[in-house]
Amino acid sequence: MTDVIYDCVVIGGGPAGLTAAIYLARYHLDVIVIDKGESRAATIPLSRNHAGFPDGISGLDLLCRMRAQAEKYGATLRQGSVVTIAKDGNVFSLRTAAGENVAARTVLIATGVFNRRPAMPEAMHHEAVARSLLRYCPICDAYEITDQRVAVIGTGNGGVNEAVFLRSFTEDVTLISPALEHELTAKHIARLKKYGIAIVNGPAECIDLHEKAISVRTSNGTMAFAAVYPALGSDIHSELAALLGAKRTDEGCVIVDCHQRASVKGLYAAGDVVLGLDQMSHAMGQAGVAATTIRNDLCDQAALLR
Ligand SMILES: Cc1cc2nc3c(=O)[nH]c(=O)nc-3n(C[C@H](O)[C@H](O)[C@H](O)COP(=O)(O)OP(=O)(O)OC[C@H]3O[C@@H](n4cnc5c(N)ncnc54)[C@H](O)[C@@H]3O)c2cc1C
Repeated sequence: MTDVIYDCVVIGGGPAGLTAAIYLARYHLDVIVIDKGESRAATIPLSRNHAGFPDGISGLDLLCRMRAQAEKYGATLRQGSVVTIAKDGNVFSLRTAAGENVAARTVLIATGVFNRRPAMPEAMHHEAVARSLLRYCPICDAYEITDQRVAVIGTGNGGVNEAVFLRSFTEDVTLISPALEHELTAKHIARLKKYGIAIVNGPAECIDLHEKAISVRTSNGTMAFAAVYPALGSDIHSELAALLGAKRTDEGCVIVDCHQRASVKGLYAAGDVVLGLDQMSHAMGQAGVAATTIRNDLCDQAALLR
């Protein structure tokens, strides 16, 4: 066990976790952030939709600035992976993969999600994302592929919705099946036809990167696109909330009230791990709400007056 009991331990140091840490530290609370270091934001080559940065900002730069801001006000930032969590009375105890124990009165889960990837070598995947040939967020960056040739790797509702979303940016959209054949209903096919979206069978495999294109192997042979959007769903990092018995959606998102409280007292969640827009602005907004709720709930439990 540990003698120190933090007011809050934030699990995850992406935009949600770091925003919460900045707020909590500025509320004069003892806050520690434990972060595995795999923020989705760290993979953003240049975010152009994040308000306040008209020329864009890279995800790494933004995270670096947020870490400095959190530390400036006294938040403790620690690299590590939380592997287990339990609650005894009003105190949460956590253990990291390195065997470190941390205790806190409240916990904010800000652990994000993992985007399922298309078939391709890992090194090629990282390079393709860094060069914006492979993109995971049409809300964020479809503007940049306006009037260019793009593909969505996906099928079913997810694939169809993403392909249709992209049609307001370009008329040249192809939906490629991740497996050999698509799983499309007659309604799906009618909708794709209505929008002039090409339907191609897979199995889709990204096989080559060029200066301004990415090649995908399909049942129609190799096709080149200015960008490919995988629409293969995400794995939600909500296992720790589940260990505490917190309610989750069928997909695994932590269910919270309008103040970001989870169904377990003292537990809060913010960012992509909660159902939402999967955007930094939304993650940060939820984190601001969560931090203020934590502050107010703690104040109710034991006066924090100076
Ligand atoms: C390629 C790409 C481009 C994008 N572009 C934009 C954009 O331009 N604009 C925009 O608004 N959004 C963009 N997004 C989305 C944005 O990155 C996410 O919405 C945002 O990062 C969510 O923040 P978060 O803090 O909830 O999760 P994350 O940023 O994913 O951070 C979660 C953190 O929790 C850590 N973690 C998980 N489990 C544990 C554990 N057990 N113990 C310790 N730590 C743990 C992870 O390692 C990670 O560091 C983009 C995403 C991608 C993939």
